[in-house]
Amino acid sequence: MTADLKSTITANLLQIDTEIKKMCKHVGREKSKARLIAASKVQPKENVVAALEAGHKVFGENRVQEAQERWSDLKQNYEGIELHLIGGLQTNKAAEAVALFDVIQSVDRPKLARFLAREMKAQNRHLPLYLQINTGAEEQKGGCMVADLPALLDVCAELELEVQGLMCIPPADDDPSLHFSLLKKLAKHHKLERLSMGMSSDYALAASMGATDIRVGTAVFGARE
Ligand SMILES: *Cc1c(COP(=O)(O)O)cnc(C)c1O
Repeated sequence: MTADLKSTITANLLQIDTEIKKMCKHVGREKSKARLIAASKVQPKENVVAALEAGHKVFGENRVQEAQERWSDLKQNYEGIELHLIGGLQTNKAAEAVALFDVIQSVDRPKLARFLAREMKAQNRHLPLYLQINTGAEEQKGGCMVADLPALLDVCAELELEVQGLMCIPPADDDPSLHFSLLKKLAKHHKLERLSMGMSSDYALAASMGATDIRVGTAVFGARE
């Protein structure tokens, strides 16, 4: 890793963090409640190392296998890393996901909840979970439909899973604020604390609308290959 790379990524992290804090202050939110999750999928390892060297601790990955390859040694070399799974999860990867991640943000169906519950028990690793909501009701996208959320929450409660929050990825060409406000309303209704929303193009908006977990990739690391 070059000194240049480290200083670029350090500056990006600082700028985004400053912007998030500014928006929180602007709307009267407690700024310590909003945190930046560096979405590191597909980025070269040196970019991730640069962010680690800059002191960043919270990262999001989309795919279990890619995350395993990258993080199994980094997690040992750097203390206090927190890894979030922010991409869709297949049930046959549940064991590996539970072993590697610290938070799973993409729980979206009862079957997956059951597999995760079983694995967490087997590994005695009880991770906090977020439920991913398909706020735009897009057919090709993962996420639980809004109408199915109460039933999914019931299943999670029966399984004694710790559901901390909700996550959404708004449709690419919609106004994200509609989706952020829906997610916030759902979280409030179900008394869930954490709201994972906002990416490079709308992280400031997300912060102003109550996001607690803001997943930013490109604006931290640069464009993906
Ligand atoms: C890639 C990704 C992000 C970050 O996207 P950027 O536009 O690069 O900031 C956030 N959330 C999820 C679920 C992603 O897959």
